Amino acid sequence: MKLSQLTAYLESLAPLAYQEDYDNAGLIVGRPDQEVSQALISLDCTEAVVDEAIIHDCQVIISHHPIVFRGLKKFNSKTYVERVVEKAIRNNIALYAIHTNLDNVLPGVNAKICATLGLQNCRILVPKHSLLKKLVTYVPHSHADAVRDALFEAGAGHIGNYSEVSFNANGTGTFKGNEYTNPFVGEQGVRHREEEIRVETIYPAIAESKILMALILAHPYEEVAYDLYPMTNQTQAVGSGMIGELELPMEEEAFLYQVKEKMRAHVIRHTAFTGRHIKKVAVCGGAGGFLLKHAIGAGADIFITADYKYHEFFDAEGKLIIADVGHFESEQFTQQLLYENIKKKFSNFAVRLTEVNTNPVKYFI
Ligand SMILES: [Zn+2]
Repeated sequence: MKLSQLTAYLESLAPLAYQEDYDNAGLIVGRPDQEVSQALISLDCTEAVVDEAIIHDCQVIISHHPIVFRGLKKFNSKTYVERVVEKAIRNNIALYAIHTNLDNVLPGVNAKICATLGLQNCRILVPKHSLLKKLVTYVPHSHADAVRDALFEAGAGHIGNYSEVSFNANGTGTFKGNEYTNPFVGEQGVRHREEEIRVETIYPAIAESKILMALILAHPYEEVAYDLYPMTNQTQAVGSGMIGELELPMEEEAFLYQVKEKMRAHVIRHTAFTGRHIKKVAVCGGAGGFLLKHAIGAGADIFITADYKYHEFFDAEGKLIIADVGHFESEQFTQQLLYENIKKKFSNFAVRLTEVNTNPVKYFI
């Protein structure tokens, strides 16, 4: 298939607009119209991973971490980043990164960690706000169903586990067309009164052009009246970190043993035990220190993340346990997440998981 079909699917899973400002997720190397028959999935895109793609004839590497993060000014093989990009281009291999956008979506990196740890009742720890907008439009009764259907079909009307959400109120619209009009009802130059329904629904701001196109096509009027409102509501579907619960509370040491095994961690660096049982567990793949106060605020007994620095450990203040399992260890299951999703979506497309352990951190035990 075309590379663009694959990337369009990945971006439906984790829209690029949901990546953090500092990130560089998306198609880094490659042409959207190039043909691809096999993808290689890895957490990091290293030279060894590109070699693996060449050997196994994979035309695209999908990695969690973007190989190019800051601007590249020279291409003279001096750094591994330059060498990876050069080798990929020479061998016609596309490089795609699905990074903080996959961290931030509900079925993303953190949901995979929660599933690995067997957590229940999981929700996003810090939901983002201002990602939703409201559409209000005015439709004659005869076309209200068609307009609602079109809006829902285009992605409007989702709140949590509910779809096709709208509010509808009856009212009377007035309008008078000038000599250039051909009104659907009424006559040119005469004020017309029409019984209409005010249809209100919400939609993700990133889907606005699609929603408006659907509205215009389904609405019978020449000039469609509609209002678009920004909303500051949080959305439970996009945000940072995740919090869930254990089915039964566990003792701290027993739980850490379990975390070590399930996360395949060589070592867990953690703060002092609090003496309480573990019930609520907050997680964040990769460097999650910025979420500590939210984990405490949400009543977590432990916060499992990575990349903690010495002084940051003090911030636990006995309120919970900070547990640093390692960056690679916390995110490694993202590879399986991508593998399973792509396999399910494109049954005839070949996907490989990298056999290279790209973790740059070694443990001397
Ligand atoms: Zn990471």
